[in-house]
Amino acid sequence: MTVRVRFAPSPTGMFHVGGARSALQNWIYAKQQGGVFVLRIEDTDAARNKPEWTEGILSALDWIGISRGSYEGPHFQSENAGEHRAAAARLYESGRAYYCDCTREDVQARTGSQYQGYDGYHRDRGLGPGPGHALRFRTPDEGATVVVDLIRGEPTFENKLIEDFVIARGDGSPVFLLANVVDDMTMGITHVIRAEEHLPNTPKQQLLWDALGVKPPIWAHVPVVVNEKRQKLSKRRDKVALEAYREEGYLPGAMRNYLMLLGWAPSGDREIVPWSVIEEEFRLEEVNPSPAFFDEKKLRAFNGDYIRALPVDEFIDACQPWLTGTGTIAPPPWQPEEFDADAFAAVAPLAQTRITVLSEIVPNVDFLFLASPLIDEAAWAKTMKDGSAELLDDAVAAFEALESWDAESLKSTLEAVGAERGLKLGKTQAPVRVAVTGRTVGLPLFESLEVLGRERALTRMRAARLRLV
Ligand code: GLU
Repeated sequence: MTVRVRFAPSPTGMFHVGGARSALQNWIYAKQQGGVFVLRIEDTDAARNKPEWTEGILSALDWIGISRGSYEGPHFQSENAGEHRAAAARLYESGRAYYCDCTREDVQARTGSQYQGYDGYHRDRGLGPGPGHALRFRTPDEGATVVVDLIRGEPTFENKLIEDFVIARGDGSPVFLLANVVDDMTMGITHVIRAEEHLPNTPKQQLLWDALGVKPPIWAHVPVVVNEKRQKLSKRRDKVALEAYREEGYLPGAMRNYLMLLGWAPSGDREIVPWSVIEEEFRLEEVNPSPAFFDEKKLRAFNGDYIRALPVDEFIDACQPWLTGTGTIAPPPWQPEEFDADAFAAVAPLAQTRITVLSEIVPNVDFLFLASPLIDEAAWAKTMKDGSAELLDDAVAAFEALESWDAESLKSTLEAVGAERGLKLGKTQAPVRVAVTGRTVGLPLFESLEVLGRERALTRMRAARLRLV
């Protein structure tokens, strides 16, 4: 039997990091089993679907390494609508489903509770199809449904506790539960690896598989992803869109490695490992069923490690979208013609060891490409104290006299200027840094001055001095 797994997102919003995690797990499982990964876009909720969300899913998958053309699909759930309706009809004709025209209020009035499920009122009343008649599945009165789940063992659900659930609405349209099962059936899916949120649907879906006379798949419900307060990640509260991480400058390699650690770890206490090791060592059966904490701080630190591990030319390439404002990435504060690739290449190794996401490259190097630096006023106020004007005067004079404009000479010269005032280098360089870069933190000052060049550095220092009059 060829293993066939599927990833079945609904295109109703930005692509979620939890979805990316499930996609990767499906992807690796298929690869390990010599199986097939199917992408199915569950686009039947017409009110909430948008084609751009589908495109977002395809490009996000591509970004984390599930590239277009390397999987089966995308198939679209809407294309299988005929099969969904045919399955509903089969269930009705075989007596496994029946029509019902009760409203919620009717059920409430009969049961006396708003929490009670459907009471089976129409089970044997012989109501036929018609407008406003929903089709309900006749769940067995006895026995239990045992779900075989690679991560959770064999969760068992008593059938008498499962209400006769709706499988097609009053307008005849099949609901998600049924469409999802019929698609899995027609696509020959053998393993359903999906988020834990769907576990409550699983006994109902397995009953549908049984009623339609097809062997159900093996299930694997991967743990819910939570924030630091142990709340399920939500798009209203948390940063959940994979796209947001991409735009901030997370590397896809770091992202997918981190996502795979949600509920699982490679051998030997390692966390950062080559992707090939993850592909080899990952075991779906070993995934911890408890909620998995999505720790953004840890991911950020992780990303910093990945950035530092890049060969410098790859780092330079990886920064390009932020340096030029490509696609959905915000444009930098300088004009394209102000950018100087050689100057960037000269400071890139210094920046590479300091930034944790690629977007941080912009505030680190903007001083090189702008006619005058963007002054952080709070930093200015904190740094420019009594004596800063005179210090800048002396520094300008000393720098003007330099024969060679290089980091080492600049450093020893400024050190001497500070020493005359009994100042350590840190204190001496702060006003110079703010004058030249506009900020209190950034790349090493003397290398920055060297790359910026004598003329521009001195102009900025003089301009800062004038502001202090
Ligand atoms: N379309 C469903 C979702 O996005 C997935 C259903 C499934 O994986 O079975 O949550």
